[in-house]
Amino acid sequence: MAAAASVTGLVTWARSLVRSPGPGRRLSLAGPRPEAETIPVNRSLRDHGNGLRRGARGGGGGGGGSLVAGRDGGAAAAAAVAVAPAPALSVMRRSSPEQEPEAGWEADAAEAAESLAAEAGEQLRVDAGAAGEPEHPEREEQPKAVGRDPSPARRRAPEEGDARVVRRLPPALPLAPPRPAARALNQLVKARGRSRGRSYRRSSGSVRPVTVDSSKARTSLDALKISLRQLRWKEFPFGRRLPCDIYWHGVSFRDNDILSGQVNKFPGMTEMVRKITLSRALRIMQNLFPEEYNFYPRSWILPEEFQLFVAQVQTVKDGDPSWRPTFIVKPDSGCQGDGIYLIKDPCDGRLTGTLHNRPAVVQEYIRKPLLIDKLKFDIRLYVLLKSLDPLEIYIAKDGLSRFCTEPYQEPNPQNLHHVFMHLTNYSLNIHSGKFVHSDSASTGSKRTFSSILCRLSSKGVDIKKVWSDIISLVIKTVIALTPELKVFYQSDIPTGRPGPTCFQILGFDIILMKNLKPMLLEVNANPSMRIEHEYELSPGVFENIPSLVDEEVKVAVIRDTLRLMDPLKKKKEIHFPDIYMDRKHRIPPVSDRMSSWKHKGSSLPIVRSQQVEKPFTSKEDLNCELAGDSDSNPEAHLPSICLKQVFPKYAKQFNYLRLVDRMANLFIRFLGIKGTMKLGPTGFRTFIRNCKLSSSSLSMAAVDILYIDITRKWNSVTLDQRDTGMCLQAFVEAFFFLAQRKFKLQPLHEQVASLIDLCEYHLSLLDEKRLVCRRGQPHQRNPPQMNRPAHSAADSSAPRVIGASKLSHS
Ligand code: ADP
Repeated sequence: MAAAASVTGLVTWARSLVRSPGPGRRLSLAGPRPEAETIPVNRSLRDHGNGLRRGARGGGGGGGGSLVAGRDGGAAAAAAVAVAPAPALSVMRRSSPEQEPEAGWEADAAEAAESLAAEAGEQLRVDAGAAGEPEHPEREEQPKAVGRDPSPARRRAPEEGDARVVRRLPPALPLAPPRPAARALNQLVKARGRSRGRSYRRSSGSVRPVTVDSSKARTSLDALKISLRQLRWKEFPFGRRLPCDIYWHGVSFRDNDILSGQVNKFPGMTEMVRKITLSRALRIMQNLFPEEYNFYPRSWILPEEFQLFVAQVQTVKDGDPSWRPTFIVKPDSGCQGDGIYLIKDPCDGRLTGTLHNRPAVVQEYIRKPLLIDKLKFDIRLYVLLKSLDPLEIYIAKDGLSRFCTEPYQEPNPQNLHHVFMHLTNYSLNIHSGKFVHSDSASTGSKRTFSSILCRLSSKGVDIKKVWSDIISLVIKTVIALTPELKVFYQSDIPTGRPGPTCFQILGFDIILMKNLKPMLLEVNANPSMRIEHEYELSPGVFENIPSLVDEEVKVAVIRDTLRLMDPLKKKKEIHFPDIYMDRKHRIPPVSDRMSSWKHKGSSLPIVRSQQVEKPFTSKEDLNCELAGDSDSNPEAHLPSICLKQVFPKYAKQFNYLRLVDRMANLFIRFLGIKGTMKLGPTGFRTFIRNCKLSSSSLSMAAVDILYIDITRKWNSVTLDQRDTGMCLQAFVEAFFFLAQRKFKLQPLHEQVASLIDLCEYHLSLLDEKRLVCRRGQPHQRNPPQMNRPAHSAADSSAPRVIGASKLSHS
């Protein structure tokens, strides 16, 4: 691949091969592929809100204002002060992540990157399509009417985004006849299920296979079915009267019927990763550890921080008139690029016009992303949160890269509204006439991440460093999310009450900057697990086409998540070779299967039938062939696990960051009533008393005033009316206040760590006293050393005061 003039000056290559798939090489329908003329989409951001958005729009207010007007408009949050000051713009430019030197930490986990890239090299022959799904949170599942779309231009393409809107019912309950490809897939899957389901036993000698309820799997159903077949587990597609070992939900945790087993969603995760909530959680961490959390662009929460946003930008501009920032505005309720636009001026009419009816996050725009083929791209990585307490995190060794379809230029007033230049969303770019359905894992508008690493590696980029920075970003982000997740967890599944344990696959959207520093864009609670994509046969007529790149990545993620959660071998250690797997294993990778079809010169109609038949045939055959040795090792027929543990493996490097987690443990201890998420005034007073925080300078009356002030402010900001009382963020703010008063002249994180130590010390003393009272024995303990470095306490042990033992799987 010839090198071309580099836009970034770092890593940019010619794209010529990508855009010219030869006949038969492209994963597309036979016959003319409807291009832009069949999907009339205006490519400007101005039109993006109009033409591409699903659902009705209100009348716009002229120009870009129409982009965001009229959509669900949640009530405006009352203007209020944020929990902690927004990032100081005085240091915005100086410490801009785009100018940051690369982080020093490099986990030895980065070895995975090499094997991944090596594997990617093997996969360059992959013939692939793009896929995904559009979903909306908590909406009812809707069957898609075949060939009935009165407004093709408005149609949203499937995307690797939040799996939020569910398109169709499980195959067992069709409301409309499935389309040919999907029908064939379903029939095949059913047939396989029938032929295996009755007879197989778990080859490990267990009396029964693991049972999985897939009745709520929704759009992840196909990938799940394939995974279960590979694992030889027992699927219950309509649910089961008896309890199952695992419940696989497509969208939500909510299900009051589940009293045992494991469910693949955490309560509260969807709320936690919304744009505003995520920004708040990361803001707290940025205030504590500004250097460590500089992987998230500076963000302001609107409308409450609008004045702050304007003022801070103005301050910097006054200091440096040559500064020309760009900001990206993202509606809190949006997904798949919906309603997003770029602005140069904080007082832009689009922003001010919708400020109070559409809560949003406005964020510093990353102006210098890494380009490949002159195009901006982002990375979707799959992360398994296996357990909250103890914290266990795994990262999938491969993910997906989604490309823009218009060559990138740094933002200027002329290109600000070019959707296909600035937004990488698949659901948007699929509508571009320049969208290239991939004919291999390393070309086209959607590729595997491993192919990107491979390409970077071949250009001399230190991909170990890239990979270790990504691992670091993921661990730090999860550490920011877990405190509140624990509060949700104890609220939904209080200790002592029956309920399932939880795990969850998250989708991390990451962008690499020109200097190769990864930046977090967002986290998806329900990443699309679809392994097919829509193809528009003619205007308004769509067909689902299997997407083998998606299958390759997503089936491995689901299957290996299940393997890690296998309740029947929980105690057994799982061995994780670092080398990525398929080459030396019995199930051939999708890429091999694809390339074998390609060599036979299949055009898509033939490919389509083969895609359905052949891979499964070969896979099944191989499984059967290999069944012989599976008695000794039940997973002998499977590839090695594609999920790599990163926590607690690297706990030592990151434990010092878990201060808010320890605050959440204190918070939960004093919540009192089971099932609540907010601390009452009595709980707060008890916290102060038990931790001996009141003094001559902090009377209990002052404590009450502190409680009232902070609680009132947060309740007006969060609009969370479920309970009255103090939410976790309010508690954190109060805690910061107390820490700053008590331990003056230290950096914030040291003040906070010292106060946590003090609280934990007094509480453990109290617990011991209570124990001693019961046993009638004396005891002696030394107080903690208050001014020691923050990380020593976090390193020392697991939090001592959590009362939520159910958070643990083990
Ligand atoms: P959504 O949930 O609507 O997809 P995202 O936060 O993922 O919202 O943003 C959509 C797209 O906008 C991203 O895929 C990325 O291409 C671009 N983007 C988002 N934030 C930034 C940013 N701070 N700088 C540059 N590009 C961004």
